[in-house]
Amino acid sequence: MQSLALVTDFDGTLMEQDVGDELMEALGVRSHPAVLAASARGRRGEIGSYDWIPVSYGQLAGRQRDVDAVIERVHPRAGAAELFAFCRELGIPITILSDGMEYYIRKLTTKFGLEPDNIIVNPIRYEADGSYRLGLQNDNEACRWCGCCKAKVVRELKREGRRVIYIGDGTSDVYGSSFADWTFARGYLADHLRSAGAPAFPFETFHDVLDVLQPHIAAFADGTMHGRRAAAGDPFCKFQ
Ligand SMILES: [Mg+2]
Repeated sequence: MQSLALVTDFDGTLMEQDVGDELMEALGVRSHPAVLAASARGRRGEIGSYDWIPVSYGQLAGRQRDVDAVIERVHPRAGAAELFAFCRELGIPITILSDGMEYYIRKLTTKFGLEPDNIIVNPIRYEADGSYRLGLQNDNEACRWCGCCKAKVVRELKREGRRVIYIGDGTSDVYGSSFADWTFARGYLADHLRSAGAPAFPFETFHDVLDVLQPHIAAFADGTMHGRRAAAGDPFCKFQ
């Protein structure tokens, strides 16, 4: 079913925990003065993750062993393996799309055997020589708000002619999901879409997602499944 594409957020979606949040909390990053200041600016709506990430993730330089210890404690959301197996069987490509850190995402997807077709994430990682790379995925010159421009990724899948099923939970998913055809939402994203009057399927585990996908996959594939969004985007997003 190459007409479909499944896009899932990582932190708090594919994983039960928000791994980035766990790292910031456990390693004392949140209370660093520069991070406190950047977080306050974020809460006031002055900056997005594009400006917050270099400050916060910048604090993880030289701390690979500490990061490894924290990510030992996290695990996928129930039903993740079954969802991946279902997509594999039907030939639906899976993209993990994250505004987090490449290092822990690659490590955890390998550890748990959740290998997608594509991982799109901020290139923040410990290199083999022990050096630390701090980068952002966003190459959208018209908008530098998010570290990872999820909206652009979903727009590109749409341009390839695919119908996009998006699964997410957080603020970083608001823009990406606004270009998707169907959204499965929990947490902040679910509340946001509800108040915006946009349709979304609620979920807590991926068994909930499969309960919708499995009996209706033909309708998803031909575009007739109910709950389809206009895929018109979000007025906040800018593109050239
Ligand atoms: Mg998330």
